[in-house]
Amino acid sequence: LRPLSEVDPEIFRAIEQETQRQRLTLELIASENAASRAVMEAQGSVLTNKYAEGYPGKRYYGGCEFVDIAESLAISRAKKLFGAEFANVQPHSGAQANTAVYFALLSPGDTILGMDLAHGGHLTHGSPINISGKYFKFVFYGVEKETGRIDYEKVRAIAGEHKPKLIIAGASSYPRAIDFASFGNIAAEVGAYMMVDMAHIAGLVAAGLHMSPVPYSDVVTTTTHKTLRGPRGGLILCREKYGAQINKSVFPGIQGGPLMHVISSKAVAFKEAMEPDFIEYQKRVVKNAGALAAALLERGFEVISGGTDNHLILVDLRSKNITGKEAQELMDTVGVTVNKNPIPFDPLPPNTSSGIRIGTPAVTTRGLIEEDMIQIAEIMNYAVANRDDAAKLASARAKVSEMCDKYPLY
Ligand code: PLP
Repeated sequence: LRPLSEVDPEIFRAIEQETQRQRLTLELIASENAASRAVMEAQGSVLTNKYAEGYPGKRYYGGCEFVDIAESLAISRAKKLFGAEFANVQPHSGAQANTAVYFALLSPGDTILGMDLAHGGHLTHGSPINISGKYFKFVFYGVEKETGRIDYEKVRAIAGEHKPKLIIAGASSYPRAIDFASFGNIAAEVGAYMMVDMAHIAGLVAAGLHMSPVPYSDVVTTTTHKTLRGPRGGLILCREKYGAQINKSVFPGIQGGPLMHVISSKAVAFKEAMEPDFIEYQKRVVKNAGALAAALLERGFEVISGGTDNHLILVDLRSKNITGKEAQELMDTVGVTVNKNPIPFDPLPPNTSSGIRIGTPAVTTRGLIEEDMIQIAEIMNYAVANRDDAAKLASARAKVSEMCDKYPLY
């Protein structure tokens, strides 16, 4: 049992370098977070050695008595945390969770109504380059140009026209609260299944800071690694009556052996999410996002929908004469990590984009507070204004380093 540093110094070094990158930069990617030591300990455990095809109590392998404990805990905690009747904790990722739902409830060729990728939806909600778009006929709703928000009457009209078998609510870059009750009503009116992909906001939902989709949906999917702050992975919640179909669709439908080390780590994350601390953390995430949006607006940035209700901000950079791609690269040079992101009705192609998406989950885990958000907005504005001045960019980088020192990570 030789240590990693001896067995594979190259990988050991890459991990060391990534640890330093996470320590020395401000992580503002809205879909990322910094998992706890306990979450990582479970994930780095001997459970990685175990094959456990099947489900607790019904496995295709011997020796599953202890991984059964871990998976049963993950299931019962997920159900309790979100008030769901049934949970499948095996999806390897959010994409797997969504794919399993489509094949559990629908037949290839069926119509699904989802949010347009260009308006904030996700690849797995019908992009032609994703399995969802190849196997199912997708129709889309988007946001309004003037408000940046979903118009529920328009969703109703599109649903009425196309009579989808499934409606998906949920997004990757929508900064506003989503009215799952309205979506549920629309699905009921057209006889569609209702699915919510709450990947981005699962932590807010767990903390009671966003309307829960569970009462209004047949199925809810999520990732476990974004606001929820667990290991990288997926989760499906559903009504009891769909449980058997969902289980079959995950395994043996689209996956083989479950990742028991990740499942045990999900169980740890669900436990952490039931602690009072977690609610306080999520409140700070939302407050920080609001403070950052306000500070950016004050500095002449345009913010889609004029602000945020959740953990993320979508910035329209056109008023600053810089593309999303350029801004992402510029922010990297000053130690602020963001991603370029299309804005609704973006005139530029996705690999350039007119926007960036900014999120507060990771910096809030680190301990940053509202006054730090003002400083981050100041640094971003200063970098954009002085993008060709190496000395000024170096001074912005130094300010970021000071903030990172003030809030040590790991
Ligand atoms: N659904 C939504 C809304 C997402 O934002 C994402 C990830 O970005 C996913 C699904 C896919 O999750 P994963 O990357 O774990 O496959």
